This record gives sequence, structure tokens and C-alpha cells, in this order.
Amino acid sequence: MTVDVLVIGTGISGLTYAINLGEKNPKLSVLLISKSDLNESNTRYAQGGIAVVSNFNNDSFEKHIADTLKAGAGSCNPEVVKFVIEEGHDRVQELMKWGAQFDKTKEKLDLAQEAGHSEKRIVHYQDQTGQHIQEALIAKIKTFPNIQLLERHTLVDLITDHHAKEKFNRCYGAYVISQEEEKIITITSKITILSTGGAGSLYAHSTNPSIATGDGLGAAYRAKVMMEGLPFVQFHPTALHPKVNGNTFLITEAVRGAGAKLLNSKGERFMLNHDPRAELAPRDIVARGIQAEIEKQEESYVWLDGAEIELKQWKTHFPTIFTTCEKLGIHLPENPIPVVPAAHYFCGGIKVDSNSESKLKGLYAIGECSATGLHGANRLASNSLLESLVFAQRAASHTLESLNENLPDQAFYNTIPEWKGDAYSNSTEIKDLKNYRSELQQIMTQYVGIFKTTKGLEIAEKRIDQLYRILTKIYNSNKLTNGLCELRNMVSIAYLITKQSQERTQNQGVFYNHDYVK
Ligand SMILES: Cc1cc2nc3c(=O)[nH]c(=O)nc-3n(C[C@H](O)[C@H](O)[C@H](O)COP(=O)(O)OP(=O)(O)OC[C@H]3O[C@@H](n4cnc5c(N)ncnc54)[C@H](O)[C@@H]3O)c2cc1C
Repeated sequence: MTVDVLVIGTGISGLTYAINLGEKNPKLSVLLISKSDLNESNTRYAQGGIAVVSNFNNDSFEKHIADTLKAGAGSCNPEVVKFVIEEGHDRVQELMKWGAQFDKTKEKLDLAQEAGHSEKRIVHYQDQTGQHIQEALIAKIKTFPNIQLLERHTLVDLITDHHAKEKFNRCYGAYVISQEEEKIITITSKITILSTGGAGSLYAHSTNPSIATGDGLGAAYRAKVMMEGLPFVQFHPTALHPKVNGNTFLITEAVRGAGAKLLNSKGERFMLNHDPRAELAPRDIVARGIQAEIEKQEESYVWLDGAEIELKQWKTHFPTIFTTCEKLGIHLPENPIPVVPAAHYFCGGIKVDSNSESKLKGLYAIGECSATGLHGANRLASNSLLESLVFAQRAASHTLESLNENLPDQAFYNTIPEWKGDAYSNSTEIKDLKNYRSELQQIMTQYVGIFKTTKGLEIAEKRIDQLYRILTKIYNSNKLTNGLCELRNMVSIAYLITKQSQERTQNQGVFYNHDYVK
């Protein structure tokens, strides 16, 4: 297949980018692929909302900028923070024009408060903001005749000079598995977009869906594209314990914003011992507070007590949480909710410029798989959907300029070779993948999680290196499957996180090594 633009990933980043591009130039051929169903993504699970300045009476860009810089612990790029926050207002207005609606009181947007924000500024749609946005964007994208959608197609590798006879030092598209036909197809493109989301599945507890395996990061790493800030993995303090149907279920921060308190197994409120802001301290502090408490007690969870929140508010503001808890026999507001911290957001990723272009020409990375400089060492709650909206729009504008540059001609793209290796069949080793995946998750949780130690990182590095070798052997002698591609990426990214963690010399933001505490 040959297209002008290939977009890999259909969360908020990929969809917003493609809509922007479709509106600017409806003649371009654009192909969007997603690994699972069109609407399965991290975006779909976002509960809290989008942080954006909209009430200019109380709030200001300056206040939102200051909050973001403070959360980022000295590692944000101030220029990026400024333009994201300033442009965010218009991007959210656009999103509303495309069909997304947000809760209102008396015709005004109902703004919620979240940890680390000095003002109420989170626009939301009940506790289903992400799902609602995703549905609106999917409905909008289907109105563009030049945009094709392919579900259940998995990125394997980016096509670069390594695969080409002539060298232009660019990205030329991607090799992709069609899951249904079990075939690898070659998609060449002038511009390639990675909007593949994060890698929460590296950890035993994650708020991300299981498809969040860092595939875009893995492919970019193999294409030798620069990565930054990988050790800054943000853990959400409060995920429901235990999992629901095998998935970790998030209890949004807005519940703590509405007054819920954290209690240990003795029923004592403990967050005040860690920070004067208690339950509303930034996520890294709350997650560490909970983890420290869990390590002191027998139970592997703490309690989130929402007795102060009225039944009516539970039902209207947090209907999904209310129903999910009810099904588990947790009756709100009387019963406290058992919660654990869970891997939530990758602040680092593929290093990009202010137009979301990576160091490899023709390759852009947007959203959670990118490192834009907005989040620094710790993302401020609800800033990620905002980042996706702003960078998707910038990347789309920049794409139009890039397409006017002197690009390789079609004859060159025709010389890109097909994937070799389709002839392999699957050996019995492929059955071990599940075990290796859960072993990797255990290693990452124990040694490269909320708390790290120098010794623990050494243990992790050694075993992940062994897993990498085992996986490479399996990869080189088996027919490629979706599961094999995922695990290959997970092992590579786990290794990179561990190595970059070892290179860090001080604690900052979400990164915490016990051995660096003075
Ligand atoms: C439970 C939860 C709650 C959250 N709440 C909020 C919130 O309230 N506010 C906020 O700002 N942020 C929130 N976040 C974070 C935010 O949702 C994500 O950072 C954001 O949605 C990421 O969007 P994205 O488009 O970059 O990636 P995603 O939405 O994750 O989309 C990734 C896409 O890439 C595709 N993909 C992945 N690998 C491949 C592959 N190999 N081949 C083909 N396609 C592939 C997937 O199929 C999917 O379509 C939350 C996250 C979670 C998990």
C-alpha cells in the first residue's frame, strides 16, 4: 500500500491529527491503523477530563503554567508549557465544534479540581470524558472520504534507510501485521505518525488497557530515534483492588478532589504525615505515601473513604465508579474502596520538537508516546489530553509544509522490499510468551516501580537482558504474531527504562531511588 500519510494509533492524538489534516487538505490519502478496535485506547479510559483555562475571572494561563512547571519538578521546557496552555483553549473549543460536549452548570462549563491544580479548570463529561471524546472523534473522522481506517493491524517496524537501497535519512512508512490474515503488509508513506500511546502493561498493576505495550517506542528505538525521560513513569495513586474482569479500574483523582480520604488498614488517615496537601498532593507524593503504607502493613491495599461525598454526587459525577463498585458489593458512600497505585502514564518517550517531529525526518510522534517537554519529570493531572490536542494540530500544519519539501519520488517507494520471514511457522516456544510477559511485569513492578534501589535495578537489568536474548531467538525463528511483537517491544522498553534509571543520579518528580535519599 502507498499513502501520503500513515497514522499509527487511533486515540485522541491520531484522530485529532487526521481530522486536522483532513480539514486542511481533503485530497491527501491518509490511512489510520489501530491494533485493536478503533475505540480501544488509553484515551477511552480517561475519566477526569482536560485541564484548560476557561474561567478567566479566577484562572489565568499564568496560573496553569506555574502549576505545570511545579509538577514537572524543574524538567519541563517552559516554552512548550506556555504554548500548550495558551493554545489549549482554542483546541478545546474546536473539539466541542467537532461534537464533544462537556458538563455544564447554568450554561457555563462545570470545572473540576484535581491534584496539583491551583484552580478548578478540568472540563469533563461525567467520569467518561475519554470515551465521549473518542466517540465524537470517530464519528467526525468517518465524514472524510480521503481517510481510510484499518482495525486490528499491528505496527511491526518502521521503514527506514536500513530497508532502502537509496538513503534519504527519512522514515518511509511501516511494516504492519494484518491480524486477520496473519500477513505482514508493507505500507509506504511520505509522512508517518506514531500515536501509539504508552506502555502501562509493563507493570503488574496498570490503569492502561492491555494493548498499551509501548509498540511505537519499541519501533522508534529499533529505528535509532532518540528517546527521553523514560524513567518518569507516573503511577496513579488509586486504582481499584482487585482487578475487574482482569483489568485494573481507575478511581479518578476527582473523587479525592470531592473529599474522599485515604486510610490504612488500621483506619488511620496517613497522607498528612507525607504532605500538608494530604490526599490532594501531586500524584507522585500520594502514590509513594500509599506504597510506603502498603509496605508497612499486611494488606496489599489501602482504603479510599468517600463517606463525605453524598450519594447523589456519586451517582451524577461518578456514575461508572458507582456502578462498578456496586457490582463488587462496595456500597457507596458507606463502604470505603480498596485501592492500590497502578502504572498510569509515560511522561517520557520519543523526543520531538515543537511540531511533534522526531529526530528522523518524516516521522512524527504525538501524545503519550512522545516526549514534548510539557510534563518534565511528572505530568500534572489532565494535561495529557491537552498536550495531544495541541501537538496534533501543530503536527498537521507542519505536515503540509513537509509535503512540499523535496521528497523521494514514487519510483523510490516502489523499491522498498516486502517483509521477509512470513514463511516461518510457529514453534512451541510461542506458548511461553504469556509466562515471560508476566515475569517481566513482576520484575518491573518489584525493581523498576514506584520505589527503586541501585541493587534492584542491577537485578532487573540482568534478567531483562536475558529475556531480551530469549525473545530475540524466538522472534528470529517464528512467524510474527501480535503477542510476539508486543512482548519484543515491552522487553526493549523495560530495558531502556532500567538503563536510563541507572543513569539518573538524583530523585526528581516521579523518579525515586531509595539510595539517593540523603
Ligand atoms: C484510566 C486512565 C485515565 C486517564 N485519565 C486522564 C484524564 O482524565 N485526563 C488526561 O489528560 N489524561 C488522562 N489519561 C491519560 C490519557 O488518556 C492518555 O495519555 C491519552 O489518551 C493518550 O492518547 P494517545 O492518543 O497518545 O494514545 P492512546 O489513546 O493510548 O491510543 C493509542 C492507539 O495506538 C494504537 N496502537 C498501539 N500500538 C499499536 C501497534 N503496534 N500497531 C497499531 N496501532 C497501535 C492503539 O490501538 C490505539 O489506537 C488517562 C489514562 C488512563 C489509562
